[in-house]
Amino acid sequence: MKEKNSEINRYLLEILDQQGSKAERRELIGEVYDFLALLDGVKLVFLHGRGHAPVQWVEPIKTFACSLKLFVIEGFYWDATPYDEFPNWYQEHCRNQLLPFRAWYICKEAELAAAIKNINTRAGRLSMAEEAYLLGYPECCVRAHYERACLYHRGTLSILRRLAKGNQNKMEALAIGNAHLIPITQQEIEDFDFAFKIHPPIVGSWNMCDACSSGAKPFSDNLVKKYLSVIEKAGMADY
Ligand SMILES: [Zn+2]
Repeated sequence: MKEKNSEINRYLLEILDQQGSKAERRELIGEVYDFLALLDGVKLVFLHGRGHAPVQWVEPIKTFACSLKLFVIEGFYWDATPYDEFPNWYQEHCRNQLLPFRAWYICKEAELAAAIKNINTRAGRLSMAEEAYLLGYPECCVRAHYERACLYHRGTLSILRRLAKGNQNKMEALAIGNAHLIPITQQEIEDFDFAFKIHPPIVGSWNMCDACSSGAKPFSDNLVKKYLSVIEKAGMADY
């Protein structure tokens, strides 16, 4: 292991090393990079503990962030999906599915902490521009993420409609019962294919839009370079 150039890096790696083999190590290393990117000012807010992060990872990182006098705010999952194009019952269903989950939003500035608390009062609803700004992701890529989400929802609704023969009550019951959704029509197959076609960058926790992925837009490349410089400075390039 390379010699670490600061106590912070050493401590983060210690927590990482304490994780069981079952922990999604790649995901956790990604969180370490995000944490360092926050400390270095590459991103304004570090999103911690979303997804399947184990509690023995989530808790020590929160404690460590508090010891660095950072703001650590528990909140709803952020969601900027433009639900307007979907029926009301489906919008409600999607929001209800996210409601029980919590993540931790970590930042350095009181002003940002206030913005995070404000999003909490909206149960995690925010605009795509707001999400891109706060998490430090390229806005084009955040928009592409939600375009994929919309195609997933369109495909889902089409399958539910087909299975329930258009009966809305049955569609709702199938959705709530987490019916197994198999795309069959050409449109459903295309929607799902597109929804799951992601381009992760070599480092960083966002997914790139097509233009960033093909190099037609420079925004993801620029951000990757910033991440690589943070990782290099921290002596974690080989980790
Ligand atoms: Zn992009």
